[in-house]
Amino acid sequence: MAPPSKARTALAALREELAGEVFAPGDAGYDDARTAFNVMIDRRPAAVAQCANVTDVVRAVRFARELDLKIAVRGGGQGMASAALGHGALVVDLRRMHGVTVDPAAEAVRIEGGATTSHLDRATRPYGLATTGARTSATGVAGYVLGGGTGWLDRAFGLGVDNLIGVELVTADAERMHANADENPELFWALHGGDGNFGIATALTLELHELPEFSAALLLCPPESGPDVVRAFREVIRSGPDEVGGAVLYLTGPPAPFTLLCGALLTYVGGEAGLRELAGPLLALPHETEVVGALPYPDVQCMLDPSSGLRSHWSAECLTGLPDELVDLFRARAAGMPASNGSRHALFPLGGAVAAGPREYPVAYRDASWTVHPFACWTDAADDERATAWVRDACADVRPWSTGSVCLDLVGDEGPERVRAGLGAGRLLRLEKVKRRWDPDNVFRFNHNVAPV
Ligand SMILES: Cc1cc2nc3c(=O)[nH]c(=O)nc-3n(C[C@H](O)[C@H](O)[C@H](O)COP(=O)(O)OP(=O)(O)OC[C@H]3O[C@@H](n4cnc5c(N)ncnc54)[C@H](O)[C@@H]3O)c2cc1C
Repeated sequence: MAPPSKARTALAALREELAGEVFAPGDAGYDDARTAFNVMIDRRPAAVAQCANVTDVVRAVRFARELDLKIAVRGGGQGMASAALGHGALVVDLRRMHGVTVDPAAEAVRIEGGATTSHLDRATRPYGLATTGARTSATGVAGYVLGGGTGWLDRAFGLGVDNLIGVELVTADAERMHANADENPELFWALHGGDGNFGIATALTLELHELPEFSAALLLCPPESGPDVVRAFREVIRSGPDEVGGAVLYLTGPPAPFTLLCGALLTYVGGEAGLRELAGPLLALPHETEVVGALPYPDVQCMLDPSSGLRSHWSAECLTGLPDELVDLFRARAAGMPASNGSRHALFPLGGAVAAGPREYPVAYRDASWTVHPFACWTDAADDERATAWVRDACADVRPWSTGSVCLDLVGDEGPERVRAGLGAGRLLRLEKVKRRWDPDNVFRFNHNVAPV
């Protein structure tokens, strides 16, 4: 670490140079700037540079290198554990860089590094176009795509990485760089699942797909009906086209202290009539609430938005299938879910375009047919151990049916073996070589880290 006087001078210069703002310990906005979606993350970065443009990002990286600081990148702020707010590091916060430019003729969209799912979907919708984004509106698109990216549209349009056309990066040397199929192709390959290991993505270009119509069916039932709902949902997915997706989940909601419900959200790349036909077996089950119809695609992203300002923990297991035994364990575990508006125990179907997508990328879960995703939110720090244990146990329940691969976007810091299982063991050495080329000092380490060989 640099001597205090050098650090002070460099910080003053950074404040002067940046079009955005810098927050350091002692500044009025520092605590706000270091607050993440998950308030369990309580890191004290050396400084937070809220960059307004690419020049700011370059300057911020130079500052960090001069002072020998590691760099944490913040996009949407929904990463877990060791992610965005590295202790003692410089946080490069991209939230002010959320511009989205749609090129309808090319069926492509360029998003800046801090854009969220909501920014993306609201910009593309007027053109009747969309790409696979996350299932909630505030998730950062770059963080999501670089980690693989599974969402409501993945069975129809592939994973986030399958739609990646190009990346604009600022590297660990503070150089601006393009990666696409022609320029720096090895780096481009690594960015298809290798997370933020290779630089700061100041912009991504993504492929768009025609989405003239989109519809969804949401059913809510008492938890006792859960196993029937899961089995019916399983059958709808098994026999339906790739245009059908969604989630079946247990969730908690009002009235206080909380009520456990089972929900099925069937999404469809198509109109209401087709959806009703496909959803028939689900709609035939007894239920308390039913909402079925065409809706703007961005609206489905808000349906599962958890409240912010909560403590949270989550994980995931990729599954070979959904046998009845698993369905019963899933129901039993849901009963112990931490009570709050946001906790849920979800099953997401994969298959379709996910399974058919390119095999060479560092995304190892294409062969899984389902993902289970326990997601706990709570308010009181005294519940930390109980809530995190619930997530661990929910994953342990289904491990006999695990594919062994990991959906890295949906897990936090669970150790190097899980990172290897997420990237694919055979791909790790190749990624380590790319890391050595672009970040030999492992400056970008607050991620699913690939160490340079
Ligand atoms: C409520 C919620 C819903 C979610 N839903 C989904 C979902 O449906 N599907 C899914 O696949 N995942 C989902 N996720 C997981 C999410 O995709 C990952 O946690 C992702 O890393 C979050 O990115 P972020 O920018 O929001 O988070 P941040 O905390 O800002 O970033 C997390 C990490 O992403 C990397 N990163 C972010 N932006 C950049 C950038 N511009 N350049 C380089 N690296 C960057 C960095 O390594 C950073 O440490 C969800 C998470 C939450 C909390």
